[in-house]
Amino acid sequence: MQMEELVALCKRRGFLFQSSEIYGGLNGFWDYGPLGVLLKRNVKDAWWTDMVVGHNEMKVMPGAPSTYEMTGLDCTIIMHPQIWKCSGHYDLFHDFMVDCRESKRRYRFDHVKGRWVKGMKHGENGASAQELTVFITTIETENTQEALDQAAQKFFGLRKKNLDSLEWTGDLTSISSLSDFSLVVGPDAKQPGTLTSPREFNLMFKTTIGALGGEDDISFLRPETAQGIFVNFKNVLDSSRVKLPFGIGQIGKSFRNEITPRNFTFRSREFEQMEIEFFCHPNESPLWYQYWRDRRFRWYTEMGLNGDRLRLREHDPEELAHYSCGTADIEYAFPFLPEGEYGELEGIAHRGNFDLRSHMEGKLVREGNELLLEKEANGQPKYRGSGKDLTYFDDQRKERFIPHVIEPSSGADRATLAFLCEAYQVDQAPTSEQGQEAKRVYLKLHPRLAPIKAAVFPLVKKDGMPEIAAEIYGELKKEMTAQYDEKGAVGRRYRRQDEIGTPFCVTIDGQTLQDGTVTIRDRDTLEQWRVKREELVDELKQRLNC
Ligand code: ATP
Repeated sequence: MQMEELVALCKRRGFLFQSSEIYGGLNGFWDYGPLGVLLKRNVKDAWWTDMVVGHNEMKVMPGAPSTYEMTGLDCTIIMHPQIWKCSGHYDLFHDFMVDCRESKRRYRFDHVKGRWVKGMKHGENGASAQELTVFITTIETENTQEALDQAAQKFFGLRKKNLDSLEWTGDLTSISSLSDFSLVVGPDAKQPGTLTSPREFNLMFKTTIGALGGEDDISFLRPETAQGIFVNFKNVLDSSRVKLPFGIGQIGKSFRNEITPRNFTFRSREFEQMEIEFFCHPNESPLWYQYWRDRRFRWYTEMGLNGDRLRLREHDPEELAHYSCGTADIEYAFPFLPEGEYGELEGIAHRGNFDLRSHMEGKLVREGNELLLEKEANGQPKYRGSGKDLTYFDDQRKERFIPHVIEPSSGADRATLAFLCEAYQVDQAPTSEQGQEAKRVYLKLHPRLAPIKAAVFPLVKKDGMPEIAAEIYGELKKEMTAQYDEKGAVGRRYRRQDEIGTPFCVTIDGQTLQDGTVTIRDRDTLEQWRVKREELVDELKQRLNC
């Protein structure tokens, strides 16, 4: 599948629009259109139902070490600034960036990739050609070598047919592997040596609270929803009588001032997360880590990512965050990534007691195998925690401890994008449905995710069919999202619904007038069958599993 085709469909059919489009757009921000909002809401609802409210704590879930409880929260986006100091985001949540002095553009350091190339650079105004070796770069894309060829063609002043005269050496590497940038040609530059050395850039959006707006009033838009859960741990314990092991789920907006937002909604500056913090006894945490890793992977497969583009990747020990005993990523081979590369959908991390301890004591750092309070040179703690007791007393074990945490942290926008990519299908339309086009594009979305569950068509606009269809549409609307369409040939109406992933179309025809049955047509199998009008809602609900 070509990514451009999906992007075009999303715009044309109202799934996604660029934010502020009539003003030229705003890089890294996206709006969900009428169908997109339904799709994303279904993704979030499926997660919330399956992980939080629909979870049955009386039953041992398959693969779980024991029964467990789940509950939810909805915290604010702006929180006490001290939270970000103790969580480490204030000091550590940064990416490295490089600036280009010539193009005035800014890039994320690890996104600029290139190769060494030798060629004859044609001089300007008839000056003689000169042999040069430079490091040509681009931002890694679906077809990076093609982009490098184009950049090299421009740099050396070659015609396309003379590209063979260039000598490329070495594999594609990030500029982070180079110690000197004097021979590096930046992604949008004409000359070598215009990239600055890398600098740190904190990804948190700053804002000011209140009208006075002094240094003390600076706060941040949350870069993750997780911290709201940690700082409410005690409130939840005290108010809802939950007992360990239990998890708290939260869905909400997060903000990161990404240096190079790109790849459609994959890397945005404003996005939504679906996060769980699962609290358990330290001895049991490795088992719970495995449970959540497998449970979350299974969820994506159950929701339709059951091809070979989804994978679970355990991090190497050297990749692990300083507090973690294990982390795995659930990744998807998005079509905009180079062949063989995967993008993260969700990270499942064993976080030990790092977060609760930091909010209790202050900012922690790892020294050897120990987590210690970070101190200034004068011995004062770098940032103080809340000082509140965030320990847990286990009355069965008669033991007080700081719970360990397993964190499955996923992005609603990335999941929605992966579901769209996986669902996009093109095949030959059946002869009976062919209009002007033999090609059939359809979104094979899981019925729970499909924005519109059923469409209702009168076969023709006469003989009382539109009236019956309108009545049926009214009945369906009370139970599920539905659309009514009476415009154009029925084949074209099927096509319009296929393209937005509607699982079922219901047609009212001549036979309906005689025997009260209607035709249901299945989006994926194209099978058609008749049911009695009174049985339609139940039949659809059963097939939709909703
Ligand atoms: P990446 O390495 O791709 O920047 P991350 O490891 O920083 O991601 P986490 O901090 O683990 O991401 O965030 C958890 C989840 O939130 C990610 O798996 C992803 O689904 C989502 N997410 C993170 N950053 C973004 C973003 N800029 N745009 C959209 N979703 C995001």
